[in-house]
Amino acid sequence: MATIGFIGLGNMGLPMARNLVAAGHQVQGYDTNSDLLAAAGGMDIITCASAGDAAEDAQAIILMLPNAEAVMSVLETILPHCAAGSLVMDCSTIDVESARRFHAMLQEAGLLGVDAPVSGGVTGAQAATLTFMAGGTEQAFKTAEPFLDIMGARHVLCGGSGAGQSAKICNNMLLAITMIGTGEAFSLGQKLGLEPEALFQIMSTSSGMCWPINTYCPVPGVGPNSPADNDYKPGFATDLMLKDAGLAQQAAETVGQSTPLGAHALELYREYSASGAGDKDFSAIIQWLNDLQRG
Ligand code: NAD
Repeated sequence: MATIGFIGLGNMGLPMARNLVAAGHQVQGYDTNSDLLAAAGGMDIITCASAGDAAEDAQAIILMLPNAEAVMSVLETILPHCAAGSLVMDCSTIDVESARRFHAMLQEAGLLGVDAPVSGGVTGAQAATLTFMAGGTEQAFKTAEPFLDIMGARHVLCGGSGAGQSAKICNNMLLAITMIGTGEAFSLGQKLGLEPEALFQIMSTSSGMCWPINTYCPVPGVGPNSPADNDYKPGFATDLMLKDAGLAQQAAETVGQSTPLGAHALELYREYSASGAGDKDFSAIIQWLNDLQRG
């Protein structure tokens, strides 16, 4: 069994770390939030006083942090503490450029690096059914695989450094677009006098079918259970979607690719968040779309 440093024990990180403990690994955890650290201590995670301490003597160090700034600052802190040849895997969602810098710093230090952002949300983290999209060398990916197997149901090596983040933002740009499209279709249908249930029966089995309709329907009481049935509590918060839609546009800018619907989805999520809905589930944008009048 391995010793694993786990830094960032928030909504996602804590259940992921707990699954590693349940599989028999020794997990050394650190989070700047002392309440979360105390909660981790109650789950057989060894609590550390700093990120450096969590990295000490670990074969693998996993980061699950809110943004690139936190990832790069933690990486600088832990580098002097990492054992030769150890693996540092970043599962946070960050921009592609920062992910590539993360890999370059690890390579220079003689360490293995993987960027492995996830899909599947908090329930996936708890149930160990996450999908990991990975970037890095074959050797680093192979080293990471036993841990990915424990924390998720599926993992794919998408390419070299930053490829996991590239795949993640392409997927989430599409998700932002399809969720808004789904909201628009239900809003229009309702104004045309259709019952949402009837529209769901059609769209979930016809050419409009997509994940926001079939799996995560934004209309309360329609389709499988989703955040819409729980007063739009996240789930996946609007501000996290806003972050990912922004990262997609940032990446599109660096390669000169125009993504008009992705750019528009970012604008709509920005407006929706500014209306005070940043901490609601991202599917709640249907409520805001319902109220939009044709100008
Ligand atoms: P979160 O805010 O709940 O957890 C992040 C944790 O990092 C917090 O507990 C915070 O205290 C800690 N932290 C911040 N800076 C730190 C530092 N310098 N050192 C140590 N700890 C520090 O966020 P989350 O929902 O767990 O998401 C984590 C990452 O996963 C994000 O990048 C997010 O975009 C991504 N993600 C989240 C979801 C989701 O549904 N929540 C889904 C897929 C991907």
